[in-house]
Amino acid sequence: MSVPKIIIAIDGYASTGKSSFAKMIAAKYGFLYLDSGAIYRAVTLFALERGFISDNGEIDQNSLKEALSGLKVTFRREASTQKSETYIGERSVEKEIRQLEVSNYVSPIAVIPFVRDFVDNLLHKFGEDGAIVMDGRDIGTVVFPNAQLKIFMTADAEIRARRREKELLAKGEDVKFEDILKNVLERDYIDSHRETAPLKKADDAILLDNSYMTMEQQMEWFDAIIRERFGYES
Ligand code: C5P
Repeated sequence: MSVPKIIIAIDGYASTGKSSFAKMIAAKYGFLYLDSGAIYRAVTLFALERGFISDNGEIDQNSLKEALSGLKVTFRREASTQKSETYIGERSVEKEIRQLEVSNYVSPIAVIPFVRDFVDNLLHKFGEDGAIVMDGRDIGTVVFPNAQLKIFMTADAEIRARRREKELLAKGEDVKFEDILKNVLERDYIDSHRETAPLKKADDAILLDNSYMTMEQQMEWFDAIIRERFGYES
């Protein structure tokens, strides 16, 4: 059976495992995976490196707006690991964009309407052909409101922070649980309360609370949905 040309939108709270879940779906069903948060993170890293974010967190929006047209964000598959990496120009920024410093500034950057337009344009270009699974905050509500399948992910905040802590510690980062929990809660707050494209469940999205689910259980849940809705067997 060929890959169905549908768009799957996975939205939800910070650190609910959206990207791990989306990657597993992509690998199993042959979809292209797109991580919209990685693009917001790349814009944030770019802004930090250009000095557009001051030490007290103020963002020089005029300079960022002007410079943004020169920013090229792409995804490439790393030959040795076969993993998709985020690039700014010719440089892989995959590691830097996951660091806590970027996490701390990304939600204020993602509030800015011209930044959202920049990211949405890129996502639409990537998503033209369908057969795509995309994760983020507003994919099912704003970016692809006609997506054929929408999933909204949530989980207990402490469980999410523990998962993120484990991930960052495994990468060798020196992090504290309290800082991670604070970051997760702050991002959720900013993401849900912003004026442009706030994080919220689309009316037609299916809710997935994975607080006490393994990845295997989540995949079984997904397999049943795609079989029932689209008659598609993996
Ligand atoms: O998915 P991830 O946690 O990497 O996203 C980083 C941040 O980018 C989120 O906290 C949110 O502020 C922003 N974002 C967004 N809209 C999306 C994807 C991410 O506002 N579609």
